[in-house]
Amino acid sequence: MDDQRWQFLSEATGPCVFLKPEEIEAGWHWCHDWDGLLVGPGMHEAIFCNCNIRKIEEWKESEEGRKIDDSMRSHAGGDIMDGGTF
Ligand SMILES: [Zn+2]
Repeated sequence: MDDQRWQFLSEATGPCVFLKPEEIEAGWHWCHDWDGLLVGPGMHEAIFCNCNIRKIEEWKESEEGRKIDDSMRSHAGGDIMDGGTF
């Protein structure tokens, strides 16, 4: 999955758009937790995906996943602090 492919799949709508079997196998899916955003391993959004997809869960446990998880959580904490001022 490169940026171009992601862009194409994200902008295309309708029943003619399918992920390739190998993309599904890799964990790519239109995520319910992100209102149908195309989410897969390596994306920050995948950290907060609760679709219970095996490859995503495995990725969350990987070194890369944990690193992003850490940075996302510390950023999220900052955002909540900022958001409290309005
Ligand atoms: Zn998901």
